[in-house]
Amino acid sequence: MTAPGPAPDFPRYARQLALPEVGVEGQTRLAEARVLIVGAGGLGSPAALWMAAAGVGRIGLADPDHVDRSNLHRQLLYGPADVGAPKVEAAHRRLAEVNPDVRVDIHQVEVSVTNADRLVRDYDVVLDCTDQIPVRYAVSDACVAAARPLVHGAVSRWEGRVAVLAAADGPCYRCLWPTPPPAHAIPTCAEAGVLGPVPGAVGMLQAVEACKLILGAGDPLVGRLLVLDLLRMVTHAFAVPRDPLCPACAAGEIRERSAPAGVAAPAASPFPLPSEPPVSPSPAEPSAIEEIAPAELAARLQGAEPPLVLDVREPWEHAIARVDGARLVPLNSLPAALSTLDPGRAYVTLCHHGVRSRMAAEFLRERGLPRVANLRGGIDAWSDEVDPAVPKY
Ligand SMILES: [Zn+2]
Repeated sequence: MTAPGPAPDFPRYARQLALPEVGVEGQTRLAEARVLIVGAGGLGSPAALWMAAAGVGRIGLADPDHVDRSNLHRQLLYGPADVGAPKVEAAHRRLAEVNPDVRVDIHQVEVSVTNADRLVRDYDVVLDCTDQIPVRYAVSDACVAAARPLVHGAVSRWEGRVAVLAAADGPCYRCLWPTPPPAHAIPTCAEAGVLGPVPGAVGMLQAVEACKLILGAGDPLVGRLLVLDLLRMVTHAFAVPRDPLCPACAAGEIRERSAPAGVAAPAASPFPLPSEPPVSPSPAEPSAIEEIAPAELAARLQGAEPPLVLDVREPWEHAIARVDGARLVPLNSLPAALSTLDPGRAYVTLCHHGVRSRMAAEFLRERGLPRVANLRGGIDAWSDEVDPAVPKY
């Protein structure tokens, strides 16, 4: 914390100041914080509105688009009079009404590998509120390089995900999704549909996590991926480790490739994160889950009591490459599918490289399925070691 700023507006923030996690010092931290929101749409709208109202002093909005009438059911930064206007300009007007003390920086650009480093280094915390997959990778890589925590949010139909990435000892976006999907494999809101309040809920959770990071309060979602199935109202926080082989946050290859030469090392964030990820309520020892090699899975599938293979990847990945007989249960759907699984049966979880499937295996073990193993190396290793006919991606 540098020199103290002006005293908080006591009447406005009275209910926050009363919290022991906030108080005058916390409200001052919020006022001095700089938060970048990438994407001023269904997630960025609630995130920006709630952080402005809470007194986050400087909010950057990056979005290249104009307001469309089809945005209005979920993007509450905008009203009918804003249709056709640049989103960042309309959002600036609305946020000034919500809280005139907040400084709003507008960036009417698509964030990419060419500008992400420069944008991110001016802020303390970054929110990933985009629905563009290449933008997610660019923002995550920039946050790893600049040591800025990234509050990830995503929605599809009735489902949402929230995690704090690129934090000390936590995973980055590439740890969880090492390989970008092929273009157009992930349907957008326009193609898949979305109920307005679903991104509202997820964006609001991102605002809560950002405020916690600024305040240094509570247990942020570092090392945990919160998945929400709001149609069935089932949620779960999966433990997500950093991938020791991650090309971005472990080896630094992406950092070197995308950081422009001659750029000075970014200043450390004034909001350092805990050096250890928080302990989940019922942690499972990593060693508690049996890791099996592809050849061992092949042998068991030929045995007297073959396990059921649970493929926890996304449908687009399953469409590219799959193991015969495996049941597709994407990770988001796993909590809701739990009741359909027989606790007496043996299971082997599978994903692309073995990281997501380990989360799934630990979840199943915690929930009372004793015979769960994880396929080490995922379907990639299966293709290498058992069945070269299975395509790699
Ligand atoms: Zn990583």
